[in-house]
Amino acid sequence: MKIRTNRAFENLPKNYLFSETAKRISDYEKTNPERKVCRLGIGDVVLPLGKTAIKAMQTAISEMGKTVHGYAPESGYDFLKESISRWYLRRKVEIPSEWIFVSDGAKNDLGALSDLFGKNPIYVPDPGYPVYADANLLGNHRVYRMAAVKENGFLPMPQAVHHKRAIIYLCSPHNPTGTAYTKKQLQSWVNFARETDSLLIFDNAYEAFQPEDSPHTIFEADGATECAVEINSLSKSAGFTGVRVGWSVFPQNALRLLWARRQACKHNGVSYISQRAAQAALSEEGIAEIREHTAYYLENAALLREALRDNDVPFAGGVCSPYLWLQVPEGYTSWDFFDQMLRKAQIAATPGAGFGKYGEGYLRLSAFASRETVTEVCHRLWKCF
Ligand code: PLP
Repeated sequence: MKIRTNRAFENLPKNYLFSETAKRISDYEKTNPERKVCRLGIGDVVLPLGKTAIKAMQTAISEMGKTVHGYAPESGYDFLKESISRWYLRRKVEIPSEWIFVSDGAKNDLGALSDLFGKNPIYVPDPGYPVYADANLLGNHRVYRMAAVKENGFLPMPQAVHHKRAIIYLCSPHNPTGTAYTKKQLQSWVNFARETDSLLIFDNAYEAFQPEDSPHTIFEADGATECAVEINSLSKSAGFTGVRVGWSVFPQNALRLLWARRQACKHNGVSYISQRAAQAALSEEGIAEIREHTAYYLENAALLREALRDNDVPFAGGVCSPYLWLQVPEGYTSWDFFDQMLRKAQIAATPGAGFGKYGEGYLRLSAFASRETVTEVCHRLWKCF
């Protein structure tokens, strides 16, 4: 075979972060089969789906045995888009359903968005969810890193951007640092984007972990509909990592038309069953179940916070986020310390350097685990520090 392949792959890290950590954990387990590894690495949920979503899926399956529900509309069924629109109204934000595009998860949309962009500087938080940078590098876009470090509370602010007409990715509560912007900080991002003709891509995947009085959508900021696109997911809130439903909001006509065209070209809708489940997850009962689930993970995070404090480990996050961002002891890189935690205490975390160069010296702990695992980790932590 002599075809030319996409050279842009050479610009990506050789392995996807979680494939590398999974390999190291499995190698360790193979050589130490008697030791039980506690996994606080990958951000997958551990609680089963809520009853409301399950019931809606069962009903949808029965319906499909009686009537045909073939290809779903590319932008989603009206019943779900209307539920999403009502979800925004709970926050006093008006989002017409025509602005909403149902997706099979936030990662897919975040990965696909770069299809829309011409030559613009792309700014991503570093450390950050690897997809923002990787997807743009694959599309041969120029990517700039905004440091999310101790000095700025692990959240980049507009001073980090040195171009007009920039495309700026933001995530709040932020993965991996677990920190979140205040309303005022989000407003200053929106003001900056409007002043500089920039676009904000707001990743809202962890919204459900925010307390009531914190921002729940970028569109709570004045003027955000002029300059922001929002990407949402039911993965971490309703536990839909295996069901696959999210949505994106495109308030600006020009981008919306391009996205609709892009989706028509490369996307074939989300299953009827999943969309009925998502509708149920956004009902009053569904939202109550989401609250129970997020409370469980936040209690895990609180236990981890306490254990880190007891061991004098500096950390951020874990208050409105399932993630804790801890500083590794001096003399270690984050990959060294990842290996050390695995070997000494059989705790699997995620090395900060995997989220970008400014993540070096840190490690992410995830509270997406059973209470039993988290309690065990709290007992074992002293072995590492
Ligand atoms: N955005 C962030 C910041 C994430 O951490 C994740 C998953 O870990 C996603 C998006 C992807 O979510 P989804 O399961 O909807 O693809």
